Amino acid sequence: MLQLIFRNKCAACFRQFNKIEHLVEHMRTSYHSSHEPSCGICKKHCRSFESLREHVIGPLPKQECKNIFSSRGCKFCLSVFDSPYTLRLHQDRCQLSGVTGLIGRFSNLGIRDNLDHGNYTRGSSGQTVALACKMVGGGSDGSLDLCGRVCLTDEYDNIIFHTYVKPPMPVTNYRYETTGIRPEYLRDAMPQRQVQKKLQDFLCNGEPMWKIRPRAGKARILVGHGLDHDLDSLQIEYPALMIRDTAKYPPLMKTSKLSNSLKYLTQAYLGYDIQSGIQDPFEDCVATMKLYMRMRSQVHKIEPYPLATDPQNRNNFASWRQNELERMSPEQMLDISRSDFYCWCLDRRDT
Ligand SMILES: [Zn+2]
Ligand SMILES: [Zn+2]
Ligand SMILES: [Zn+2]
Ligand SMILES: [Zn+2]
Repeated sequence: MLQLIFRNKCAACFRQFNKIEHLVEHMRTSYHSSHEPSCGICKKHCRSFESLREHVIGPLPKQECKNIFSSRGCKFCLSVFDSPYTLRLHQDRCQLSGVTGLIGRFSNLGIRDNLDHGNYTRGSSGQTVALACKMVGGGSDGSLDLCGRVCLTDEYDNIIFHTYVKPPMPVTNYRYETTGIRPEYLRDAMPQRQVQKKLQDFLCNGEPMWKIRPRAGKARILVGHGLDHDLDSLQIEYPALMIRDTAKYPPLMKTSKLSNSLKYLTQAYLGYDIQSGIQDPFEDCVATMKLYMRMRSQVHKIEPYPLATDPQNRNNFASWRQNELERMSPEQMLDISRSDFYCWCLDRRDT
């Protein structure tokens, strides 16, 4: 009897089921994979880093894991190390300190709005850039978001583009306390239509929109936080498969499947503060790019077909017969289970 219960335990999240068919049902719908955040101590898979954090630090942690984590676990990336000494060496690099000095410098400079291709041609493909906007208010009550300032950076925190934007309709609330934008900054700023065109061309990088494929052409990977909103307000269209959004990446979302704020993610995963007082979109670009790079650098098992939607995976159990699955061990089922989200570690595969 005991053995039976043990047999029906999910090899990833450790949930136990009375009957094997319930475990099979669970495996069909849970999309467990090596790309889920997992505990460095007991190897339990979690849906998000937030639930992993709860597992090792939270108010109701797993006690054995908490004990080990408290002496050898990094509270930013949640990795576990061999000794408190290697943890200390690691944490010095893992906790970042932001870009305060740089921000001061560039805020005064304010504008770098020349996006000629000749200016920025490092490599012809595989380039990744981060975009962020600051919104001012339009409409009668000032609640309509209009992009008043935009920034674009590369992987090395170099500013590619940084400018005030003149929205296509009157600004009724400059939201000065957070944007730092004054009417005179926008009066002669670059019109939104022109910003849209420049950014659109830069992102596509000579590739026609319909031809853009991941990993193949010259188009750039676009990183940001809540990019739908930024792209909407600038009226930029960009294919979803080229977008890496820290507000929508399952491992960075809340257990409730809602987005975390960029301010929270930066504090929790990078270990520094942003967005206090007047906000510069450059600071948001740097934070989202660092989050993206941290996620991309994760070391996960390399599989030829990593996604449940890859046809080779028989649609993640959908076309397996029930009795075939019921004969498998929990480990075998986990072994053939694949992810339902595109893990950013896959961006590293051929670079
Ligand atoms: Zn499970
Ligand atoms: Zn991965
Ligand atoms: Zn654990
Ligand atoms: Zn760390």
